[in-house]
Amino acid sequence: MPRTWFVLLSFALVSGCNDAVEDPAEAAASPATSNTEQKPAETPEPTPEPKDPVVAEQPAPVDYNTLSDFESFVLLEKGTERAFTGEYTDLEDAGTYICRRCNAPLYKSNDKFHSGCGWPAFDDAVEGAVHQSTDADGYRTEITCNNCGGHLGHVFFGEQMTKKNTRHCVNSVSMKFVAAGQPLPPVVKKPKEADAGSPEASSGESGSK
Ligand SMILES: [Zn+2]
Repeated sequence: MPRTWFVLLSFALVSGCNDAVEDPAEAAASPATSNTEQKPAETPEPTPEPKDPVVAEQPAPVDYNTLSDFESFVLLEKGTERAFTGEYTDLEDAGTYICRRCNAPLYKSNDKFHSGCGWPAFDDAVEGAVHQSTDADGYRTEITCNNCGGHLGHVFFGEQMTKKNTRHCVNSVSMKFVAAGQPLPPVVKKPKEADAGSPEASSGESGSK
């Protein structure tokens, strides 16, 4: 009898131990082994996930027209072309003068007149196209493209040259002439540059003599 008990007890202990030991061991071992064994069988050819970067189709960033060194000197650095050297000084063709930098229409040939000063002269501008501000010299009135801030020249009043008594003295190189009947290129619109036309606001005009 006692021997039977011992056998039963030891069997129970061993089987119990076996159960307790084998279960976690199997649980831990079987997934690993099955995984490594199944992988080569289940994935005969690795299909790469479509990771192509989803780039939303957006219009290419539109930039201002590329300027030559001299055009940049006049339009961006407020330079001046020499008198009687500009290509449009004596042009009388019908058409529109647009900004060379951004294509904004600035002047019409109807408003052009011969001033004799050596630069294209207009006694009026396309409405809202030309910005006026006090020049850095403190007394002249600088004119800039209202769209891109490019320097155009200066405007003078009271010279009695035309009925409008106004003379926009514009560098030819700041403009591009589009003959009547030709399509005008689209205007390049961008956020205004911080330095364009800023001196107007900061220049405190004091009339002290
Ligand atoms: Zn412009």
